[in-house]
Amino acid sequence: MDRGQPKDLNPSTVSIKSVPDYAPDRIIEAMRACLEPLGGMRAFVSPGQRVLLKPNIISALGVDRAATTHPSVVRAAILLAQEAGGRVLVGDSPGMGTLARAAQVCGISAVITETGATLVDFSEPHEFEQQANTVAKKLILTKALMDADVVISLPKLKTHSQMTITGALKNQYGLIPGALKGQWHFRLQKQEWLAALILDVNRTVHPVLAIMDAVIAMEGPGPVSGTPRFVGALLAGRDLASVDTIACQIIGLQPSRVPMLAAARKYSFGETDLASIPTVGDDWRPLKVPDFKNVEQTVDLLRLIPLPQTMLHWIRRQWMARPRILADRCIRCGICAKGCPVSPPAIQPSLAPARQVDDDRCIGCYCCHEFCPHKAIELSRSWLTRCMPLTAMADGVGRILGSLSGRKKK
Ligand code: SF4
Ligand code: SF4
Repeated sequence: MDRGQPKDLNPSTVSIKSVPDYAPDRIIEAMRACLEPLGGMRAFVSPGQRVLLKPNIISALGVDRAATTHPSVVRAAILLAQEAGGRVLVGDSPGMGTLARAAQVCGISAVITETGATLVDFSEPHEFEQQANTVAKKLILTKALMDADVVISLPKLKTHSQMTITGALKNQYGLIPGALKGQWHFRLQKQEWLAALILDVNRTVHPVLAIMDAVIAMEGPGPVSGTPRFVGALLAGRDLASVDTIACQIIGLQPSRVPMLAAARKYSFGETDLASIPTVGDDWRPLKVPDFKNVEQTVDLLRLIPLPQTMLHWIRRQWMARPRILADRCIRCGICAKGCPVSPPAIQPSLAPARQVDDDRCIGCYCCHEFCPHKAIELSRSWLTRCMPLTAMADGVGRILGSLSGRKKK
């Protein structure tokens, strides 16, 4: 894998290239320039290899929603991998609906046809074993991985209502075939458990490279109901944790608030300490979006409070944001109920407004919010969150812990 890598390159190096828009020619040149300091695409792909590209194709949403990796970015990655001699497969597993439809609506099908790549559906399961995993020694992932020599991740930079952001590490969650994701949501109801599972997926399938689409990101209530926000960059690196860490700097988010990065730090997976991540290419500082709207999430400060587990559980539930259906947008398609991992569903759009969400059974996975194609579900902050500036508190604690651990390292 390291054949074309510059010899003295730190494996956590992140390459950054600013780019003003998605014009296909500009994107391919920007991606070429972004990969160049890392040794170019030939450092990652050998002639004849089967290259599986994993963009974010979360749902059948148009490119204007900024919910999926932009087709120009997918196209450029396909062309560069083909130029290096690879045979390219492109796949994902939307949580709801078919991949063919999602890829068609977001424009990725068109670039696959244009370039002669192959679209692969991740719905067929295969069991993978990994003894180093923390949550699951055996993982059911897509069988398509068996047909790939190398995996390249093409994440989209977006906010995520449950997991804070969806970036490079979280993008690998799509390797779990569609319906099985819901089962994990049900089994792993704490953010940190789900983050550990996502890390397990990354340990099991380690992509050789991530190229993040951060040209137009999503802010607000992502991963599908947020608002497109210009950032203007491609980020690339071998170490997915370091790519996410730099992305956090650009959107003004404390990495300690991102459960996947907290898990990566805890299990020493990749580099999450900003001071230890070399960057090449363009400087990320001028790309910073100071008023980027991140998700109103809180780290689990409750763990620090010495109270019985049952009481902590009760407080956690008061703290949690709740899905609420917006009557003026809902068309009662029932997609939210189908995607709810609780059985019977904790959300029932056909009921009277006060009974649509069963707060006692809702586990706060926000799959309904993610799957609703009409932005008809809002996440209503709890009374406790409204009363207390928890995000600010969490950021403060994160900063203190970050600086303390930085000091310790020196
Ligand atoms: S998915 Fe959205 S539009 Fe469809 S029933 Fe649920 S809330 Fe309504
Ligand atoms: S109602 Fe929504 S947030 Fe609650 S468990 Fe069901 S899908 Fe998850």
